[in-house]
Amino acid sequence: MTATPFWKEAPRERLEQNIHEQKVALSATSAASEANRCLYCYDAPCVQACPTAINIPEFIRRIANGNLAGAAKTIFEANILGHSCARVCPVEVLCAGSCVFLEKDEPAIMIGRLQRHATDHALKNGLRFSARGTDTGKRIALIGAGPASLAAAYNLSLRGHACVIFEGRSMPGGLNTTGVAPYKLQTDVSLEEVDYILGIGGIEVQANTWIGRDISFQALEDEFDAIFIGVGLGPDSRLQIPGENLPGSVGAVELIERIKNENGFHLNGIDEAVVIGGGNTAIDIARELKQLGIDTVTMVYRRAEESMSGYAHELAQAKQEGVRLQFGAVPLAVEGDAKAAQLRCAKVDALLQPIPGQIFSLPATLIVRATGQEKLQTLLMGITGLEFYQGRVKVNPLTQQTSHPKYFAGGDCVNGGKEVVNAAAEGKRAAEGIHAYLTSHA
Ligand code: SF4
Repeated sequence: MTATPFWKEAPRERLEQNIHEQKVALSATSAASEANRCLYCYDAPCVQACPTAINIPEFIRRIANGNLAGAAKTIFEANILGHSCARVCPVEVLCAGSCVFLEKDEPAIMIGRLQRHATDHALKNGLRFSARGTDTGKRIALIGAGPASLAAAYNLSLRGHACVIFEGRSMPGGLNTTGVAPYKLQTDVSLEEVDYILGIGGIEVQANTWIGRDISFQALEDEFDAIFIGVGLGPDSRLQIPGENLPGSVGAVELIERIKNENGFHLNGIDEAVVIGGGNTAIDIARELKQLGIDTVTMVYRRAEESMSGYAHELAQAKQEGVRLQFGAVPLAVEGDAKAAQLRCAKVDALLQPIPGQIFSLPATLIVRATGQEKLQTLLMGITGLEFYQGRVKVNPLTQQTSHPKYFAGGDCVNGGKEVVNAAAEGKRAAEGIHAYLTSHA
């Protein structure tokens, strides 16, 4: 492993430490037994369902043969973020959701947990399977230190290009560090993975540096041969209702980050919380609050349960944990103060039209907005000729190149907010696109 970088230390008193891992590590015996259950399918559907196309039957066979290092090598060759993806991927709707065992009404292979078994072994033992390529003299700037940029930088370093990642926050890792639910992934595991990725060499991280504020886009264009945009999404969207700026009202992404990374942050005095939204972030924060001991946590969603964009398996777990659900309701106003607030709502029909006379209030000492995040189009306006589609950076999907030939992009700022594994795939593809661009402009 590399020497400990300055950002390695996550804050010591993090509220997320009170939340337990949902999918614990497999024992060696369980992993071997599960690996031996796999049919090692030809043309495996699980591989086709993985955005990074990890050779799943191959790594599982290697685990079955006791070759954990070989299994980790197979995983990292396809996806250098395989350590976090093993924990955060919604395998139920990706690889494991395609496993042939489901057709026989038998449990799918525990692909995520087997992947974790192999990558845990590699990181714990400092095993490396790749080396930086011969120096090409080319330099690439990457904006944002999240999964997309990390995957891009790693794959550029493999080809011998030098990378500088500019990160506005004090710690790298993007949403893996600041936004993934702690019952899936905690901050120190994310930082451990970043450390592993940077161990290839040739990648520098400049933290606490905002592009557009501390360094101009023009300066980047002058200094670097190509630039990758991996800025993710912006702050929580506003509801545009009265009272949403009151002290008891907060955005979900902001709250999750405080739970994960703010030293000494607590929720003392909070006993009733309302979460507004029906997506995965809404489910995540509702479950986190429940797991942190908040008595009553209610999700308010404007449509019916079937219309929720959050994963059904995550919602089922939220219900099991005691999260309450209020469907067919829209928030009208936040009222009161931090000690005695309430959310006033209107019941609506399937067309979202208010049902006359059906107004109600939910008491809450905490009201969480989880209705999406703003796009960062404004931040990127300083790039001449950059085109957008519905607020997202427009790219060639084969190369991740933007309408400005020197800029490439990937991750949430392009896909609008998908999984870590999608960002990893796009970052890797961008590295290939940048390499081809640099080679053709040599
Ligand atoms: Fe193994 Fe299931 Fe993938 Fe087949 S589909 S290779 S059984 S994990």
